[in-house]
Amino acid sequence: MNQASLIYEKSVSGRKGYTLAGTDRAKADIMAAIPERFHRSRPAALPEVTEGETMRHFIGLSVKNHHIDKGFYPLGSCTMKYNPRLNDKVASLEGFVSHHPLAPCSSSPGILRLMWDLSGFLREVSGFAAISLQPVAGAHGEFAGLLIMRAYHREKAEKRTKIIIPDSAHGTNPASVTSVGFESVQVKSNENGVIPPEAVKAVMDDSVAGMMMTNPNTLGIFETYIKEISEIVHKGGGLMYMDGANLNANMGIFRPGDVGFDIMHFNLHKTFSTPHGGGGPGAGAIGVTAGLEKFLPFPVLDKDENGQLFFNYDRPHSIGRLHSFYGNFANIVRAYAYIRTLGGEGLRRVSENAVLNANYLKVLLKEEYELPYDVHCMHEFVISGSRQKALGVKTLDISKRLLDFGVHSPTNYFPLIVPEAMMIEPTETEARETLDYFAAVMKQIAGEAKENPDLVTSAPHNTPVRRLDEVGAARNLDVAYPE
Ligand SMILES: *Cc1c(COP(=O)(O)O)cnc(C)c1O
Repeated sequence: MNQASLIYEKSVSGRKGYTLAGTDRAKADIMAAIPERFHRSRPAALPEVTEGETMRHFIGLSVKNHHIDKGFYPLGSCTMKYNPRLNDKVASLEGFVSHHPLAPCSSSPGILRLMWDLSGFLREVSGFAAISLQPVAGAHGEFAGLLIMRAYHREKAEKRTKIIIPDSAHGTNPASVTSVGFESVQVKSNENGVIPPEAVKAVMDDSVAGMMMTNPNTLGIFETYIKEISEIVHKGGGLMYMDGANLNANMGIFRPGDVGFDIMHFNLHKTFSTPHGGGGPGAGAIGVTAGLEKFLPFPVLDKDENGQLFFNYDRPHSIGRLHSFYGNFANIVRAYAYIRTLGGEGLRRVSENAVLNANYLKVLLKEEYELPYDVHCMHEFVISGSRQKALGVKTLDISKRLLDFGVHSPTNYFPLIVPEAMMIEPTETEARETLDYFAAVMKQIAGEAKENPDLVTSAPHNTPVRRLDEVGAARNLDVAYPE
């Protein structure tokens, strides 16, 4: 049996996997159209394989890696859920994919209408007055939001340089703060995993431009004191930013725009039907209050006096343009299709089930694993591998062992406030049997840590490759075929 893993190794001279109609004629025409000096002197060294072998090759490659279509993927904060294929199909409709991004607004009414309607749905879901679909990542949305904060204070001729960030915030928050030229001031969450208003009060002064709050926070806990904290920050002249990447827990239940937040980003590529991760294109739409609308990145989708949609560039207060064209349009289409398919009631059920699944799994896992914040969680929760660490089995080892059972690792060693952290987000699309299976595997690994720790510390055993030098693989990437 041919175990070759590279398609070149499967190549046999003279095999082919295609038949093209009228090839000779077409080939002659093509060759005639290419200037002589560009002709090859010898044929390209391409693999010669049959169609069947080619199929097997690529299917084989696709199952070597772990992915959501293959198995459970509880990577906390990334919302790795099943995204309906229907939405990909809608995003691939001819009218969308073949429309030129430089086509005038007058020839793009359907496309503009889709963005207009999606903005309306996002306003409804979030409670904000205005939306921009332009940012192309969650972190990009944060960047946009912080530029808006800066523009707001500049207009008032106030020099404010600091942003309050809880220790339970997502890691991109302090990075965005630095990118915009602000400085982070950390506040600590309390023993229940939430930010106490006193902590914010203690650091709030007239050098603070605002506060960024991840909600639910990275412990998967809903912030209890939003109203009190917003009041403190607003009274001190600052603005409130909500990191809304975790909207999967909130839809149809809690609207950030109603309770004192001024700016928020969505991760359309988590909550709304585009997978996160893998470096694919994202969509980090932002929502703002009416008073901040004038600062939104331009162009802004607008309606003229005849009710025609157009891109308005005449925005003197805008923070400017953040991306070419209008964001990642296919993500926008998928988000639209997702929301239209589910409706308001459906979105609420997404969140209810995401929260239910997380709480169910949390209860199953807390027997064998330390649960540092034993409170009702939202769409995710954090356990600690500290008991296993004491036996010589690190969280990293547990994660590697999970691969032997066809399960992706949870998010590891984050948030930083939990030692040996495992951040687990099952999502609403997993069946109870999958959650039970995962819990059983985690229990088995906890048992192995006690009885046979070497089995865990030397894992994975069943994967195509074992422990990789992950840093080296990323830094010194070599994808060339060894000749
Ligand atoms: C994923 C995530 C982000 C960043 O989103 P990217 O699209 O990866 O830049 C920010 N905050 C939270 C809470 C997240 O989960």
